[in-house]
Amino acid sequence: MRYRKFKADFIFDGKNILGEDKVLITNENGVIETIVNEAEAGDGVQAFKGWLSPGFINCHCHLELSHMNNVIESGTGLVDFLITVVGKRGFEKAIIAEAIKAADTEMYENGIVAVGDICNTADTIPAKHVSKIRYYNFIEAIGFTNNNISIVFERFIKLYNNFIIEELTDASIVPHAPYTISSAMFELINNASAGKIVSIHNQETEAENELYRTKTGDFFKLYQQLNINTGFFQPYGKSSLPSYLTLLSKAKNLLLVHNTFTTQADIDFAFQQSKANQQQVFWCFCPNANLYIENQLPDIKLFIDNDCNIVLGTDSYSSNYSLNLLDEMRTLQTHFPFLETERMLQWATYNGAAALGIQDRYGSFEKGKQPGILLITNFRDKKLMQTSAATRIV
Ligand SMILES: [Zn+2]
Repeated sequence: MRYRKFKADFIFDGKNILGEDKVLITNENGVIETIVNEAEAGDGVQAFKGWLSPGFINCHCHLELSHMNNVIESGTGLVDFLITVVGKRGFEKAIIAEAIKAADTEMYENGIVAVGDICNTADTIPAKHVSKIRYYNFIEAIGFTNNNISIVFERFIKLYNNFIIEELTDASIVPHAPYTISSAMFELINNASAGKIVSIHNQETEAENELYRTKTGDFFKLYQQLNINTGFFQPYGKSSLPSYLTLLSKAKNLLLVHNTFTTQADIDFAFQQSKANQQQVFWCFCPNANLYIENQLPDIKLFIDNDCNIVLGTDSYSSNYSLNLLDEMRTLQTHFPFLETERMLQWATYNGAAALGIQDRYGSFEKGKQPGILLITNFRDKKLMQTSAATRIV
């Protein structure tokens, strides 16, 4: 057996940073053997300038929207953004396929090894077949009313089966967002995804909370535009999260995405629910998309103070300029300078792998795992700089 040995300024192992006297040893396929002191490593150690890290996990993407780069103006707010996506997402199949392939390659090259990917179509299946990235496919259901709900749901089961038949078996049917899912639709999703990983866009705009509190606000514009009868919708008198979270009681892991307008009371409610249902809740932040759409970021410190499981996502090219987790970390550190790089790296590696249920292989330098090895360069006082970049060395 041939071994490969790596050292750098620091080794981030998925949770902690280890000093420069450590050497990471893998077998020839990049499967982790051990981390030892340099004195015990023997010869043939490759030395790098920068930090070594396990590969990144992008917990929220819409690969199938990769052709929408620069199609939607930034700063419109979520409701106008959604209306524009629905109106403009149709392109020639060949253009869509080409953009999907390019985005998959881009993510791989900048260090992403696994992706939680939202799917409204089967467009990404060919690219996923040949991709070096591992995908968890979230088949996204949308169903506003309780009428004909089982017929509507059939469509999502069919799409789900498309992925399963193609042996893309890391998949589950998930709700798009609370405001696009009726109570009957929530029930079908909850049953279909029992014991699986479920993702939902959560509290991306204040209008979502307003809708649930008082049945007023910007979302009525969306419903009107889509010709949706809002008679079914009952205001709950509280914010969005406590109004719907009980309807996702059967998922193993719950991935709440965005959380831009989430409060302490919402976090408390989520903790209670997850305990009662023996679930794990993960809070996924996509800061560049938040700035693109709403020009507002979640209260990151609130989630840290509450010991929340935090993960990161890029969202899609319809609301971002890159699919690069280091760009997301850089944005967070710019707006929240107290954030240590190693804390965000744990979100992007160890936590992300746990959220997608793939920690047997990904997310940390532990014996037997094959998480990929990244070199991250250009730090100042352990903080990221504009020139920092992640490249793959294994
Ligand atoms: Zn999204």
